[in-house]
Amino acid sequence: MKLTIHHLYADMMNLYGDRGNVISIKKRCEWRGIPVEVVDVGLGERVKPTGCDIFLFGGGQDREQALLADDLSGSKGADLRAIVEDGGVVLGVCGGYQLMGHSYETPDGEKLPGVGIFDLHTEPRKPDEERLIGNVLVRVRAPETREVREVVGFENHGGRTRLGDTEPLGELVIGHGNNGEDGTEGARRLNAYGTYLHGSLLPKNPWLTDQLILGALRRVDDAFELEPLDDATEHRAFESVSGRIAGRRTG
Ligand code: GLN
Repeated sequence: MKLTIHHLYADMMNLYGDRGNVISIKKRCEWRGIPVEVVDVGLGERVKPTGCDIFLFGGGQDREQALLADDLSGSKGADLRAIVEDGGVVLGVCGGYQLMGHSYETPDGEKLPGVGIFDLHTEPRKPDEERLIGNVLVRVRAPETREVREVVGFENHGGRTRLGDTEPLGELVIGHGNNGEDGTEGARRLNAYGTYLHGSLLPKNPWLTDQLILGALRRVDDAFELEPLDDATEHRAFESVSGRIAGRRTG
């Protein structure tokens, strides 16, 4: 059993070190002796699922998003939708997350088509609105155990994401999240996750990293269990953010 990490648009969608998400998944597999490979999937290249996969989509500026929207408008987008419907593990961050919805409208009024994995759309900020920037703390309910875990990251986006019939990834404790109004952050459906959290997200949130790895491995062996790792460093990284914003907690 080998886990393949498909890094979508690695050279274009890598804002705020989102590549760290790929490294985190790879290292947490290697530390456990789980064979793992990273495959870059660029413009014009099709995704090739192996049966034990994680597909990652980083953040990017409007210009890159326009190139991606075109690349995803045909069979590649249809392949990604089918992967999600089949329970495949996908993580989209910020610009990548926005394109996992129905559309992303740029501040110039260009409406980019999304893949349609999540029932959501993203609107541009109004001229008198600020970009949504800062550290974020989110309460996420674990898919299997339903236990509530906290996740931290950093957001910087102009877009305001409005959820339709899609579950948020979690509820905001601190930060702006999807739109700075409805208290939600990100989206989740089956094993597809979308979030505004850069940072990069996964190194500081080892629990979430392991959820993604487990989701992929259990598609091959549904009884698979991950052996625990010494996450002292990861927890210190988490606390480096949660401690800094602790004073801003509300509720
Ligand atoms: N261009 C998008 C926005 O500003 C996404 C930015 C990003 O990926 N950080 O909302």
